Amino acid sequence: MYAPAGVQVSKDFPIPDKMKAWVLGGPGELKFVDKDVPVPKKAEVLIRIDAVAICATDLDVIFDGTVALVQGGKPFNKNWTPGHEYMGTVAALGPGVDEYKIGDRISVEIHAGCGQCKRCRMGMYTSCHNYGLNYGDVDKGHRANGFTTDGGFGQYQINNINTLVKIPDDMSDEEATLVVTAGTAMYGLTELGGLLAGESVVVTGPGPIGLLGVAVAKSLGAYPVMLTGTRDNRLEIGKKLGADHVINVRNEKDVVAKVKELNGGKGVDYVLECAGAPNSINEAAYMVNRGGKICLAAFPHEQTNVDIRHIVSNNIYLFGIRGEGKSATHRAEAFMRQKRFDARLIHTHTFPLEDLPTAIRYAKDRVDDAIKVVVKMRGAETKKQAAE
Ligand SMILES: [Zn+2]
Ligand SMILES: [Zn+2]
Repeated sequence: MYAPAGVQVSKDFPIPDKMKAWVLGGPGELKFVDKDVPVPKKAEVLIRIDAVAICATDLDVIFDGTVALVQGGKPFNKNWTPGHEYMGTVAALGPGVDEYKIGDRISVEIHAGCGQCKRCRMGMYTSCHNYGLNYGDVDKGHRANGFTTDGGFGQYQINNINTLVKIPDDMSDEEATLVVTAGTAMYGLTELGGLLAGESVVVTGPGPIGLLGVAVAKSLGAYPVMLTGTRDNRLEIGKKLGADHVINVRNEKDVVAKVKELNGGKGVDYVLECAGAPNSINEAAYMVNRGGKICLAAFPHEQTNVDIRHIVSNNIYLFGIRGEGKSATHRAEAFMRQKRFDARLIHTHTFPLEDLPTAIRYAKDRVDDAIKVVVKMRGAETKKQAAE
């Protein structure tokens, strides 16, 4: 059984030496293999993964390698495990860890900065200057599980204690995988200024981050909150999560004019851009009022022309965010713990770990209107299940 030197284990929580995990071969090629259960170092714990959600960024990583950086390059054929939006149970403690107990249920955030570079010292650990430097002879202590280090599509993983968020017993495994998604929305909105009460917000793109962006903005007191998108079923979920107005851009000749009409003739204070479409930045710039702020939270797939003259002459601020920095997951979890919004509305499908390729197909092709697809380690049936 698993008993590495210096690692605290419990006889009540036996851990095998080997585990099942998916690894990435070539682009789009996943293999289900046996791997050694990893060993936590100082300030790290071993997590038994209980559930993991599939993110659009996982699809980018698996099918073309961006934005992962594994052993200094693309993630292919490196016996590397993707997956980053997981939750689970603390199974073993690395040397010196007393912040968590074996058996604690936790959710994770992705980025553990090195803790020693300029950005980490500023609290901006998702912009760590030692990003991706934690392999071979290099050990900067940096991890971004599912991007630079092994991730969550397997039975166990290592996490730095700084990336854990304790979750309450009444939060289901599926809901807990969404803490990190809500955390990204929280990070984007707080980087925009944070005090949103009574201020107007447009969220563009009703994907998981956009939908939870609506929920977090509303919980922070924003008014009005508008959501734009092309799929009515997702816009309806946006309404349930707190959107005061939804705009289907397919039915609207001029979405900027519609936003202004709904906001008393003026542009809005903030745009949280989650669509990543070629015209998204310019539309966002035309939707905000003078001096307004735009947060770019989507990874676009192509380069785009930006109307810089409009941005400069109107003193518009642009923020690009990566991940969920400044402990945003803790603040997002606090909203979810208090049931300020029901993140479960975006969870649509559940599959067992061995069906990961099917789960990925559902997420990628949006089969059966899939939004958030979750893989569970135990208790999921092999066939498609309805949402909880
Ligand atoms: Zn993600
Ligand atoms: Zn750093």
